[in-house]
Amino acid sequence: MSFAPLKLPDYHEQSPEVAARFRRIRERPVVMRVRDLHKTFGINGHGHIAFEKMSLDVHRREFICIIGPSGCGKSTFIRIAAGLEDSSGGEILIDGKPVSGPGPDRGMVFQGYTLFPWRTVKQNVMFGLRMRGQDYPTAEAEARQWLDMVGLGKFEGAYPHELSGGMKQRVAIARALANEPRILLMDEPFGALDALTRCKMQNYLMQIWKKVDVTVLFITHDLEEACYLADRIVVMGTNPGRVLEIIENPIPRPRSTDQLISPEFLALKHRLDELIHSPSETEEKLHLIKLTQAGDEVE
Ligand code: ADP
Ligand code: MG
Repeated sequence: MSFAPLKLPDYHEQSPEVAARFRRIRERPVVMRVRDLHKTFGINGHGHIAFEKMSLDVHRREFICIIGPSGCGKSTFIRIAAGLEDSSGGEILIDGKPVSGPGPDRGMVFQGYTLFPWRTVKQNVMFGLRMRGQDYPTAEAEARQWLDMVGLGKFEGAYPHELSGGMKQRVAIARALANEPRILLMDEPFGALDALTRCKMQNYLMQIWKKVDVTVLFITHDLEEACYLADRIVVMGTNPGRVLEIIENPIPRPRSTDQLISPEFLALKHRLDELIHSPSETEEKLHLIKLTQAGDEVE
């Protein structure tokens, strides 16, 4: 039996509602401006290129996903944006000011669980608030508010080891948001979670993002995750690390799992798949040892 190839729409095609949403986004102020930013590791810049010149304007409350194979410079870029790493050239501005180190205007959530294990959930969320000089009762009240927001109000007295992976990441999100950052920088935050928990976390994150005035930069190597969450998707490639394309996501909001099989979703996912698994990315030959006998072959 043969299947007729599925006719998918062009991933550039946007419904009038989606096009109008992108027009509105473009009218909002630019929170993060990246111009010709690049990074080379090694002595005097003569070394390994982490990523080539990259330019991007991120608008207020936009949800940007950065996707690409391992080693294309995603984490290096987000570390530069966080002020944890220097660039080799170009500029990165937050609200017009050059990044020159970490600051409270940027919150970070990584894949690994970065909570303080010796502090309770509430104390973890209060930490940044207290560091910024808030008195204990104010910090405590705010921490509780953020924990309610991520659905963990009942767990304020628990220690991180008593929580599941998904719950720990929700605390990490609450802790990052408690400092009221302009930008939330997330580096594969759900990468270590099982598929079901990951799906729940994506929905949590979208609900939170709707309520909070925050711009999100979210790294993933999961194509569906990027299609499901993003307004725009920055697709990166390797050898050398670089931006291949910046795509406006044609999938309307509000998003739901019903859309995972919609024509727009499949068209976008297909395009990402094409970009990320292009011949140059899969050229590497696999040398396999034959362990089967004649007649054993898999059809
Ligand atoms: P990704 O997050 O997309 O997997 P990274 O940003 O971690 O990629 O890495 C991009 C490239 O830079 C990789 O080739 C990696 O080996 C290299 N790299 C990352 N950090 C360092 C470092 N501190 N020193 C030297 N090379 C590095
Ligand atoms: Mg990485």
